[in-house]
Amino acid sequence: MSSQKGNVARSRPQKHQNMFSFKNHKFDKSIQTQKINAKLHGGVCQHCKEVLEWRVKYNKYKALSKPERCVKCLQRKVKDSYHIMCRPCAYDLEVCHRRSCRRNEESDDDSDFDTDLEDTEHNNQVN
Ligand SMILES: [Zn+2]
Ligand SMILES: [Zn+2]
Repeated sequence: MSSQKGNVARSRPQKHQNMFSFKNHKFDKSIQTQKINAKLHGGVCQHCKEVLEWRVKYNKYKALSKPERCVKCLQRKVKDSYHIMCRPCAYDLEVCHRRSCRRNEESDDDSDFDTDLEDTEHNNQVN
């Protein structure tokens, strides 16, 4: 009798479910992402589009809390993050209006390359 073996007290770590109150935006995220993606398809060049879509995909896209100043009309009408021009101006000029777009600045300094894509494992570039 009293062969109490195998009853090793397992110290399972308790799940602290309220350790972090991380808000899960699962529900509005897909809609939000769609909306953002749709928005991004206008007014930017292919390169910037990829950057922005990457940001959305990896949840790194930050929406502006308040409009920024347009570089052309100087009014605070820029409502899209990472953009330097308001939409009317951008469409007027038909240029890419993303902030730090390589095409906006005719610079031959390639070290200024946008590093946004760096950790995307975007290695399908043909050299
Ligand atoms: Zn661009
Ligand atoms: Zn403007």
